[in-house]
Amino acid sequence: MRHGFSAPARPPRLALRFAVYAALTLAFAAAGFLWYAHRYATTEAERAVRFHATFVANTILRRALQPSDFQQPLAGSRLRTLDTLFRDEVLVGGAVRVKLYAADGRITYSNVHDLIGNNPAASDAEDALARGHVQDVTDLNHEGGPGPDFKVLETYVPVTLGGTTPVGVFELYQDYRPVAAATSTAFLPIAGGLAVALLALYAALFPILRRVTRRLRDHVEEIEHQALHDHLTGLPNRVLFRDRVEQAVLLAGRERRGFAVLLLDLDRFKEINDTLGHESGDRVLEQVAARLRAAMRESDTVARLGGDEFAVLAHHVAGPEEALAAAERVRAALAEPVTVAEILLDVDASVGVAVGPEQGGDVETLIRHADIAMYVAKELRTGAEIFSPDHDHFSPERLQLVAELRRAIAAEELVCHYQPQAAARSGELRGVEALVRWPHPSHGLLGPDQFIPLAERTGLIRALTRQVLRQAIKQCRAWHEQGIELAVSVNITGRDLLDLKLPDEVAELLSEAGLAPSFLELEITENTILADPVRARTILTRLSDLGVRLAIDDFGSGNSSLAYLKRLPVDVLKIDKAFVLNMQSDQDDAVIVSSTIALSHNLGLAVVAEGVETGAAWETLARLGCDVVQGYYLGRPVPAELLELKPEAAVPRAASF
Ligand code: C2E
Ligand code: MG
Ligand code: MG
Repeated sequence: MRHGFSAPARPPRLALRFAVYAALTLAFAAAGFLWYAHRYATTEAERAVRFHATFVANTILRRALQPSDFQQPLAGSRLRTLDTLFRDEVLVGGAVRVKLYAADGRITYSNVHDLIGNNPAASDAEDALARGHVQDVTDLNHEGGPGPDFKVLETYVPVTLGGTTPVGVFELYQDYRPVAAATSTAFLPIAGGLAVALLALYAALFPILRRVTRRLRDHVEEIEHQALHDHLTGLPNRVLFRDRVEQAVLLAGRERRGFAVLLLDLDRFKEINDTLGHESGDRVLEQVAARLRAAMRESDTVARLGGDEFAVLAHHVAGPEEALAAAERVRAALAEPVTVAEILLDVDASVGVAVGPEQGGDVETLIRHADIAMYVAKELRTGAEIFSPDHDHFSPERLQLVAELRRAIAAEELVCHYQPQAAARSGELRGVEALVRWPHPSHGLLGPDQFIPLAERTGLIRALTRQVLRQAIKQCRAWHEQGIELAVSVNITGRDLLDLKLPDEVAELLSEAGLAPSFLELEITENTILADPVRARTILTRLSDLGVRLAIDDFGSGNSSLAYLKRLPVDVLKIDKAFVLNMQSDQDDAVIVSSTIALSHNLGLAVVAEGVETGAAWETLARLGCDVVQGYYLGRPVPAELLELKPEAAVPRAASF
C-alpha cells in the first residue's frame, strides 16, 4: 500500500517507550523504598544504642564515676577499678569500646589504654556537650581496629555527676554488624516482594498498553490513508500521486530508469452526471478505477486526482513507444462500455503522457506536460498524445480554432475558390486550381495558410482533403455538363500521402461524380515528396495508375533534382511563383525559369508557371516555351460562379502567335 511513499512519522513506539519508562520508574521506586526502609531501620538501631549509652551514663556512670575520672592522669588503681567496672557492666551485649573525655576533649579513660591522653575528637566531644549527644557509624581502623568490615556506631553522651553541668563525655562503641545484618534480613524479603509485585503490575499493564498502542497506530494509519486516498474509489489521491512521482524522479536519477506520467480525463463524463445523476456518475468512476487498476502493473500507481481526472504512474518505461503503449493499455481498458443501472455507457478517455525524466525533472513539470498533452489529445480527439514541445503552440485560442475547424469540416462549410490556368500560347482556358477557403463566422474568410498547417498537425487534413476533392470533382463535372471541358487541380499534403486509402477514395469520388480521371490533377509540393520518397512513390504510383495527373507544386523551393523527380510518375511541373514573380528583375531567377522549362520538356513534363501577375511575365514565359500560366494577371482565385470562363481576352498580344 505504501510503495515508495515516504510515510509521515509513524505513531511512536509507545509500548517500547512504556516498557523502558515503566521499568526505570519501578526501579527508582523500589530503590527509593529500600533506601527509606534501610534508613528507618538504621535510625531505629541508632536510637536504641543512644538510649543504651544515655542509660549507662545516667545510671552506672553517674553512680560509679567521680569528677576526678575526667581529669588527667588517672592513678593506676583507679584505672584498674574503671577497667573492671566497664568490663563487667558496660562492655557487654555488643559494646566493644568505651572512652571518657574531659571537657576539653582529651581522653581520660578508655578500655584501650593506649588511647588515654589523646585528644582526637575534641569537636565531637564538644558537640556532644552542646547538643546532648553525637552519633556516627565508622570503623575502628584509625584506632587500630580489627579491619574495615568491623563497623561500629559511635555514640557520645555527656556525663553529669549529681549536678546538672556535664563534667565530661562518655563515648560508647557499639558493634554495628548485628544491626546491619538485622536490617538486611528484615528488608530483603520486603524488597523481593516489592520487586515481584511491581513486575507483576508491569506484566499486567504491558499487554493492555500494547493493545492500546496498536489501536492508536491503526487509527493513525486509517487517518493517514484517508488523507492520501480518494474515498470513492480507494485509489491514491493527488497528494500521494505527486509523492510517488517525486520518488520516481529520484529513482530515475539514481538508477537511470524511465517512467511515464499519464493523465486521463473521461470524455463526456459531465453528460453522464447531468443526465443520469451523481449516483450513476460515482458508479462509473468506480468501474473506471477498477479497470485502470486491473490494466496496469501492480507496481504502477493508479490515482484519482479529482472529478473525472485519473492519473497513472507507469514504471520501467524505456521511451515514447512504451509510454504510448501504456496509454493504449489505459484506453483499451475503457474501450468496453460500463454498465450503470442496466445502461451501457461509453466512457472514452483522453490521455496525456509525459515521459520521465526526459520531459521533466520535477513533478511540477511532468504533470504540467502530461496535462498539456491530455488537453491536446482531448481537443484534437486523438485519444492519446505524448507531450511534445509542439504542444506548447496549442494555446487555448489555437485549440479553439481546431475545434471550430473540425466542426466546419463536418458541416461542409469550407469552400473552394478556383484560379484559372491558361495555355501560355493561345490563352485558352485549360483548367483551374481549387484553393480552399474557410468562411469563419468571426474571423472572416480565412486563407489556407491560416488553417492547413493546423489541419495537418491535428489529423484533420484527411477530412479536409476529401472535402476539397469532393467539391472540386463535383464542380468540374458541373462545368463539363455545361460543355466547358476544364481540368481541376487539387492540392494534397504529406499527411495525405501517408493515407494508403487515398487512391481508392479518389477513384470512388471520381466514379461517383462520373468524371474521367484525366481531368483531375493532384498537386504535391516538392518538399512533401522528399520527406518520405518511398511511401510517396507507392501512393503516387497508385494514383497515376488510376489515370489521375500528378503535378509537382512549388518546384524550385526545395533541393530536389529534376532527374530524381522524373523517376516518380509525375506529369506536370509547377514552377514556384517566387521565381516567376522575380524573373523580370532578377537574372538568376530568369535563368532558373528558362532552364527548368527546357529541362522539364526534355524529361517529357508539362510546365505550369505560377504567379503570373503581368502581361510581360506571360509574354516571357510564352517565349520560353512554358505550357500553362496561372496568376493574378489571368484571374484571382474566386468562387466557381464568379469564374471568368473566357480569359483569352486577357492574352497579351505579344504572346499569341
Ligand atoms: P499553391 O498550391 O502554390 O497555390 C498557389 C497560391 O498562390 C495560392 O494561394 C494563390 O492564391 C496564390 N497565387 C496565385 N496567383 C498568384 C499571383 O499571381 N501572385 C501571387 N502573389 N500569388 C498568387 P493560396 O490560395 O493562399 O494558397 C496557398 C497555398 O495553400 C497553396 O499554394 C497550397 O499549397 C495550399 N492550399 C490551398 N488550397 C489547398 C487545399 O485544398 N489543400 C491543401 N492541402 N493545400 C491547399
Ligand atoms: Mg498548388
Ligand atoms: Mg504553388
